[in-house]
Amino acid sequence: MSENTWRWEQYFFCFRVAIDGLTIICITCLQLFDGHNGSTAAIYTKENLLNNVVGAIPADLSRDEWLAALPRALVAGFVKTDKDLQDKGTVVVLLAFVICARTSGTTVTFVIIDGYVVTVASVGDSRCILESSEGTIYSLSEDHRLECNEEERDRITASGGEVGRLNIVGGAQIGPLRCWPGGLCLSRSIGDMDVGEFIVPVPYVKQVKLSSAGGRLIISSDGVWDALSSETALNCCRGMPPDAAAEQIVKEALHSKGLRDDTTCIVVDILPMEKLTPSIPPPRKHGKGVFKAMFKKKSSSSSSHPEYTPPDLVEEMFEEGSAMLAERLDTEYPLCNMFKLFVCAVCQVDMKPREGISVHSGSTNLRKLHSWDGPFLCSSCQAKKEAMEGKSQSRDDRSNSRGSD
Ligand SMILES: [Zn+2]
Repeated sequence: MSENTWRWEQYFFCFRVAIDGLTIICITCLQLFDGHNGSTAAIYTKENLLNNVVGAIPADLSRDEWLAALPRALVAGFVKTDKDLQDKGTVVVLLAFVICARTSGTTVTFVIIDGYVVTVASVGDSRCILESSEGTIYSLSEDHRLECNEEERDRITASGGEVGRLNIVGGAQIGPLRCWPGGLCLSRSIGDMDVGEFIVPVPYVKQVKLSSAGGRLIISSDGVWDALSSETALNCCRGMPPDAAAEQIVKEALHSKGLRDDTTCIVVDILPMEKLTPSIPPPRKHGKGVFKAMFKKKSSSSSSHPEYTPPDLVEEMFEEGSAMLAERLDTEYPLCNMFKLFVCAVCQVDMKPREGISVHSGSTNLRKLHSWDGPFLCSSCQAKKEAMEGKSQSRDDRSNSRGSD
């Protein structure tokens, strides 16, 4: 990477949300950005993403409805942030910003914690893992690296992108798979306007509910995960409070791979009320750490009788990773009233009656969907949707190679 390159940013704070029009609850939000080709995209995303997500959630929801609306609001917020950054890059006269805004991009790992419910939205190759109190490890994010994600390679190729390795003199190919033009190793990010709009900002979203015994979250950029397995990261900081644990993980990663600039880590312990002080989780012997892809699925019996939930089971409430907006903004589950008829489902702009374009228009999906079914998009967000699906080019030019990740 060159010297003007990347910045990472990480954020950890609480914000208040009004529920039911009167109750105020405090939600914890963690954000980790790993930017490339300058920090413009990472900084812009940090300043706007949370507002865009919260702005896509209707007012006056109950706490459960608020959590159920969150996965779709995350998709809307990520796409709006990318689109606004793109528009800014196009209209702002300040030349330096235009150049940075066009080539700069960032991975995003966005975590919302409300009680024992953890919602993670991610684009790129930073990763979030969870260890339950019994020692089972869960992955709460998906790697959007071309090298290891065949589905994403197929999507990009079908949308008009080219995927291949770097060619060096003599015709040999080296390094990881990249998307051309541009040379980006990722299939999803915010920013990266010069690469092609099939590098989409649509996040993988996972929402889980921990048991009342709690657990530990580790959110790190690729510099950590290239050096350490999930088990090693968890084991190297056993018994340490979160701050010291995060430092230890970074130290361990640097020790094993040498100095890198994209090595950052956030550790969060979600603890039962009675353990909040002191906040050091009990040391656990170095176990093997069982990596689980399977979750206990949400069932009506477990949600209506939480007292019967066996301890240490992590319940999966939501998971979706499709890059298609028609699938991600679907109205079926469980909040049909989340999208208002005359408001764009992505940017929330007011529309005149019949001005909106159904998110299903042009869909080849054979389910009982009609082009007059909502949710609806404004014409500008519809153009963005088509560009992301490779059906049009809303950006004027594709610039030259950058050879970065
Ligand atoms: Zn819109």
